[in-house]
Amino acid sequence: MISGAYQQRRLIMGWVRGLLIFACGLAVYFFSQTSLIIGPQSIYIAAAVTLVAQGLSQLVNGIRMFRGYRVYRYWTLLVITTLLACNAVMLNMHISNRWLLLSNLAVLLWIFAYGSRSLVGHGKDFVANIFWLCCSLFAMVGLILAIVAVKVGLADQASLDGFGDWSIHAYLVSFFMLIITAVVSLLLLIMHVKAQAGLQAIATLDGLTGVLNRRGLQEAASRMQAVSQRIQLPMGMLIVDLDYFKKVNDVYGHLVGDVVLKSCAETIRAALRGGDVIGRYGGEEFCILMPNTGEQEAMVLAERIRRIIEVTPVSIAGVESMSRETQAIKCTVSVGAVSSETMGYVIDALFAAADQNLYRAKQNGRNRIVSNIEQLLDKSPVKGKPAKRHASVIA
Ligand code: GH3
Ligand code: MG
Ligand code: MG
Repeated sequence: MISGAYQQRRLIMGWVRGLLIFACGLAVYFFSQTSLIIGPQSIYIAAAVTLVAQGLSQLVNGIRMFRGYRVYRYWTLLVITTLLACNAVMLNMHISNRWLLLSNLAVLLWIFAYGSRSLVGHGKDFVANIFWLCCSLFAMVGLILAIVAVKVGLADQASLDGFGDWSIHAYLVSFFMLIITAVVSLLLLIMHVKAQAGLQAIATLDGLTGVLNRRGLQEAASRMQAVSQRIQLPMGMLIVDLDYFKKVNDVYGHLVGDVVLKSCAETIRAALRGGDVIGRYGGEEFCILMPNTGEQEAMVLAERIRRIIEVTPVSIAGVESMSRETQAIKCTVSVGAVSSETMGYVIDALFAAADQNLYRAKQNGRNRIVSNIEQLLDKSPVKGKPAKRHASVIA
């Protein structure tokens, strides 16, 4: 899928060029119907069809580019050459105008069929439905062209000679213009929807790690809190902080620090269950939101994360600035865990309690988890009491 303001502008300009050529073709066609023409009318009609075909094939190429499909650079050229060759040969050899019309209709049908195929929707979302609508509109034009072709094939010579006078042409041309305008408008709508989604992603995702940023996290927390509270299910929260991360930066440099951050975010993300949400809470701190998770389950997940980070050294072999001796860096994390079972559903209170538990985990030696589980088990707060090692806390 093409993206970026520059490419979008290029794409729109391509569509505009295609539409202008298409409009020129229609203008030539309308001119051919007047008494102002000099020379045979068939030349004007052939030129009009060629221009219409060129405009449409450029539009279809633009659609393919927009969708990220392979674009055949010489396709437009092939279409025009085919049309010109058919028209030149048939006009020169005075072949029946039935074949002339059929060949022109076949080329137009080919363009609309190809365009329709390029507009097939993927998935079931709004954008996919709009693509399906565009695909159907192009297919409808193709079908109408096929019906006209059948009509031309079956018409007697007398009515074929008066083909130019068929009143249906005016309706068909207006209908085709309407369809092309509708398809281009719908494509612009898709472009707009995608740009909006892109901006939304930029606004809520962290550029370095790809997880939610603080804002995205707040939004996700509010949504999860509202649902959990409504259906009275617990909601858990972890704040995971890399231990002695400043040292990593100091010893290996910020570039390696970034690689470590990215890798840890990915490792944590892989350890999460479906429905859990991860975001970057601060510099080297990640927050995990867990729906339908009480204090005990929060501890289990926290332990899984602590353990997996401990046993998964971060490979820095690919970092250019690194010497060959250092291939991987071992990291550990401290985790502050909390759930609505002990803190209620107020988001700020959950963040504050998880932060406080993290602080206690750091104070008590790092590479450990602190939660409010004791409050739940003993019904007695443990504030001030030294936190036990995570495993015993779980037990
Ligand atoms: P502690 O175990 O107490 O958490 O010690 P720490 O060194 O991890 O914590 P401290 O708060 O002293 O240092 C955090 C460091 O994280 C300082 C900052 O330079 C670094 N940091 C924050 N964001 C980024 C980032 O995006 N990239 C890199 N490379 N470093 C970052
Ligand atoms: Mg830290
Ligand atoms: Mg920190």
